[in-house]
Amino acid sequence: MRVGKPVKALPQPSCDYCGSRALLVRYGDDSYPYRGDQGPLWICTACQAWIGVYARSKHNVPLGRLADAALREAKSNLHDALEPLVAGKVRRDGVNAFEARAKAIRWVAIELGFEPLPGSIHALTPEQCEQALRYVEAFMAARRPGG
Ligand SMILES: [Zn+2]
Repeated sequence: MRVGKPVKALPQPSCDYCGSRALLVRYGDDSYPYRGDQGPLWICTACQAWIGVYARSKHNVPLGRLADAALREAKSNLHDALEPLVAGKVRRDGVNAFEARAKAIRWVAIELGFEPLPGSIHALTPEQCEQALRYVEAFMAARRPGG
């Protein structure tokens, strides 16, 4: 009888676009999409969709779902739209930007009733990303003086 700690299954994310199993690549690998080292990535080369892993994750736990070019762009737009709010929170509450960003995403997700609640921007679907962007833009417009 084998005694010991149960071995936790390693994460094996799959591609949301084609259903294939994603491949773990590192800087220097043929299919690594960036010129510089951005850390290990789970990638679907057919869809050119990928996602990074948690910085200190020993098991290369993905940050969220694999993102294709359109979703990467949507996330980047949402990220930019949230930055003024994030900067404000950092100033007011003295939290770091990383934490402020996570809280901002959580706030939008609760406002829009996303289920399950995403842990970060990387968990959002393309539709949720678009919805969140519209919500944040409307929120910022309403706060603008004279707006
Ligand atoms: Zn794919």
